[in-house]
Amino acid sequence: MADTRTHIVVVEDEAAQRQLLVDYLGRNGFRVSGADGGAAFRKLVERDPPDLALLDIGLPGEDGFALARWLRERSGKVGIIMVTASGDTVDRIVGLETGADDYIPKPFDPRELLARVKSVLRRTGNAAASPAGAGKVRMGRRVLDIERRLLLDETGAEETLAASEFDLLKLFAENPNRPLARDWLLETVGHREMEAFDRAIDLRITRLRRKIELDPAHPDAIRTVRGIGYMFVPSKG
Ligand code: CA
Repeated sequence: MADTRTHIVVVEDEAAQRQLLVDYLGRNGFRVSGADGGAAFRKLVERDPPDLALLDIGLPGEDGFALARWLRERSGKVGIIMVTASGDTVDRIVGLETGADDYIPKPFDPRELLARVKSVLRRTGNAAASPAGAGKVRMGRRVLDIERRLLLDETGAEETLAASEFDLLKLFAENPNRPLARDWLLETVGHREMEAFDRAIDLRITRLRRKIELDPAHPDAIRTVRGIGYMFVPSKG
């Protein structure tokens, strides 16, 4: 019988810590695979694609950021949580640029990790559950397909999109021509890590503009509203 449990890959070079996470997540109903580094991880992903990857940043050889980028290029839907030892802001921002969905700094309470895993899976896993008839919204030079949670270009080719990026674009698509406050965006997207530092929302907007704007230096679709936040202006025609 096929195993329908959610598949999580834990990448951690320290064997004891890896085993701890594999056991803990396993006890909480997930199917869990462990990898001690990039080579094992890639092999695992090719053979048995995960729903979520927990990536330690400090690994011998390829670090967690490189693995996150590689994984995000393969799939816009997979959940990615980075595990950082330093917990400093620079690491986190770099991580957001890799398409990770969330972070957890070491040392962490396993219950906190479990909460974040569930939260990321909620955001990434509801592609099948989104309401039928949800539309497609033109945003800059791309089209957001809300039902399929995809960002497409004219040819229908898929642009990679992290779950949290999709959530942001969807918020804009649902609230056209309305200035959206940065605080409200942070709260509504419900991305815990973003609450810690405001600038994360600006970084995400910058990243989204690169994906959808004709000229990201002079954004037309997602405009800055000074003193407030951002506003999505649908293009005419
Ligand atoms: Ca490590």
